[in-house]
Amino acid sequence: MRFVITPPREARAESDLFVLLHKGDIVVSASGSYLHPVSGISPLLKPSALSMLGEWHGVAVWVGVIDDLPQGVTTAGVRSLLMMASPDEFTVLARAVQLTHWLEQHRFCGRCGTATMAIEGEMARGCPACGLRAYPRISPCIIVLVRRGREALLARSPQFAPGRYSTLAGFIEAGETVEDAVHREVFEEVGVRIDNLRYVSSQSWPFPHSLMLGFEADYVRGDITPQPGEIEDAQWWTPEALPDLPPSVSISRLLIDRWLAHNR
Ligand SMILES: [Zn+2]
Repeated sequence: MRFVITPPREARAESDLFVLLHKGDIVVSASGSYLHPVSGISPLLKPSALSMLGEWHGVAVWVGVIDDLPQGVTTAGVRSLLMMASPDEFTVLARAVQLTHWLEQHRFCGRCGTATMAIEGEMARGCPACGLRAYPRISPCIIVLVRRGREALLARSPQFAPGRYSTLAGFIEAGETVEDAVHREVFEEVGVRIDNLRYVSSQSWPFPHSLMLGFEADYVRGDITPQPGEIEDAQWWTPEALPDLPPSVSISRLLIDRWLAHNR
């Protein structure tokens, strides 16, 4: 793998590269790159919003926030860039966006209100008054493709693009196991019971800090009953007649493609 997450370093070097965010978007150079050399941008960086992401081909990569755009660059939306990204690029950008979001929201201690400080050698903010530590927030979610014979259950939320259907997903509740969350979410969203959960894979999803845990499961019983407000429609689909599907970069599409590969 070309990009690896490493412990944060104190010192920056001339060879370091920067992912830059401006008003929540990614800064893109005239050549289309979002990895910028340190030369010329140092005066623009806000030191309070600077984190090391890891190493790309052995070169340290940081994320920084800038208020003013240098000459000759533009910005691109995070979602549109991620939809075209390779797996490595996806990791870099997703990590950059999540850490920036976390830094913005943890400038002050949640317990006593004192300004927090970076903790050396760790990706953490500490409170100098009461000692509380804050680490980047990750919110685990389950995402599941439910199978019934050759069919798959796909549903659409009211926010989806017209005609698009996807797998079921939801946040894991405090105190809940991953497995219980899969059963609960499926029953809440579409009213069916499942069993035989199989873990498939995971994906970091930076909107704003989800970790998607992907499963397959088998239908047991129940008629589809969409949850009001959450699910606009849900249906059983065969590989021969499919709706519009999520983009190929998403774990939902990975689950769907895996099901298709086993049923064609
Ligand atoms: Zn405090």
